[in-house]
This record gives sequence, structure tokens and C-alpha cells, in this order.
Amino acid sequence: MRQGCISLGQVRCDDCHRIIPYPERYLAIDEAEGTTVRLCIDCALKRGYARYKVEKGEQVLTFLEE
Ligand SMILES: [Zn+2]
Repeated sequence: MRQGCISLGQVRCDDCHRIIPYPERYLAIDEAEGTTVRLCIDCALKRGYARYKVEKGEQVLTFLEE
């Protein structure tokens, strides 16, 4: 299951390993083994798990949740 979350500042991206600062959004992915993988916006975009869409003239980030 994938879920968009807001970082409280203690979250590290499991792909590029940078700290995701508050209040940046990240994607939490529950793996089958009970572990959770966290991806920053850049890595989520890179993997196709998020995309920007334009809403009322503004770019809005959308996580593609399951
Ligand atoms: Zn990352």
C-alpha cells in the first residue's frame, strides 16, 4: 500500500538517503515483509509514484496511492 504523508523532520528517504524536512511530503510504501519504505518527492517522481498536475493554474503534486 502506498500513502502520501507529511514529514515531521525525522524521516529519511530510503532511496537517496537524505533527511526529508518538515513539512515536506513523502511517500510511505508498505512492503510485503512488514517493512515501510519511505521516498522523498524526487525519488517518488523518478519511480513514477507521483506526478505533478495543474489545478486552477497551479502545479499540485499528487502521489499515486493504491
Ligand atoms: Zn529521495
